[in-house]
Amino acid sequence: MTSSDRIREPEQIQAEAGGNALPFLHLPPNDLFALRARRLERLADGHPLGEYLRLLAGVCRAQQRLIDQPPAHWAPDPQRLSQCIQHGLPPLSAETLAREDAWQVWLDALLFELPDSVSAPVQRAMTRLREADRGQRRAWAVSLLGGQYSGVPAALVPFLGAALQAAWSHGLLTLPSHDFKPGDSLSQCPACGSSAMAGVIRHRGKYNGLRYLVCSLCACEWHVVRVKCVYCEQSAALRYVSLEDDRAAVTKAPVRAEVCPTCNGYLKQVYLECEPDAEALSADLATLMLDMRLDEEGVHRRAPNLLFAPGGD
Ligand code: FE
Ligand code: FE
Repeated sequence: MTSSDRIREPEQIQAEAGGNALPFLHLPPNDLFALRARRLERLADGHPLGEYLRLLAGVCRAQQRLIDQPPAHWAPDPQRLSQCIQHGLPPLSAETLAREDAWQVWLDALLFELPDSVSAPVQRAMTRLREADRGQRRAWAVSLLGGQYSGVPAALVPFLGAALQAAWSHGLLTLPSHDFKPGDSLSQCPACGSSAMAGVIRHRGKYNGLRYLVCSLCACEWHVVRVKCVYCEQSAALRYVSLEDDRAAVTKAPVRAEVCPTCNGYLKQVYLECEPDAEALSADLATLMLDMRLDEEGVHRRAPNLLFAPGGD
């Protein structure tokens, strides 16, 4: 456990108990995907996976173009929205809305926006997605969003995932109300019910020192107290592992995995005080070596990153 993790926790407990309400939600900025693209391009320089990170930067740029010029307005109908908010259910439920075909316009638009100057395997993946019928695409999307990676070809994941992210982020940003209730588990997005991709420890103003989890699908962020496993809610014996710990103290590393011995899972966390320009999706993809190391230790990753298929090429 790092010293800063020990210091912040009592403050948060006090703030919550004292009714000094912490902002529960943090919405992504309108230029989120441009920001991700810029970070990926920067992280690609000198990185062993540089080519892959640059490819994904291009995908993020295409996502941003869709957010800037939506191919269709995509939102749950007003009656369903009010029912969800009334009953504390995620209004953009991935489980429900992936089975409806409205998001597929976003996949067509994303495939149109992606650059032509890509490798033959990427072109094959794009062609396969273009030519698949609605039922097949729906089945792939349901598998991907359900974490069933065996149900979707690995090469299709980044493009399908990117289209789903763009559609859901558009849905989130254009909702008339953001009065969401916490999900059934700490790791579940209050807006769409998907799993968190990573945590971000913020460093400015009223958010200073607070942990927000970032949704793997819609990019909504929600507050979860620190030093608590987001999967089993245990705080005992958590340890923090970083890629940098051979060269620098783990307390200085901008990306650290919070590893829980109780459920043998982990979640990566991005510390903005160590890297103010960092962003969760790009930071996650640039530290896949950390996942490999933890996998070798037998610790399980539960957090999805929709631009990456575990075990894929
Ligand atoms: Fe979400
Ligand atoms: Fe746990």
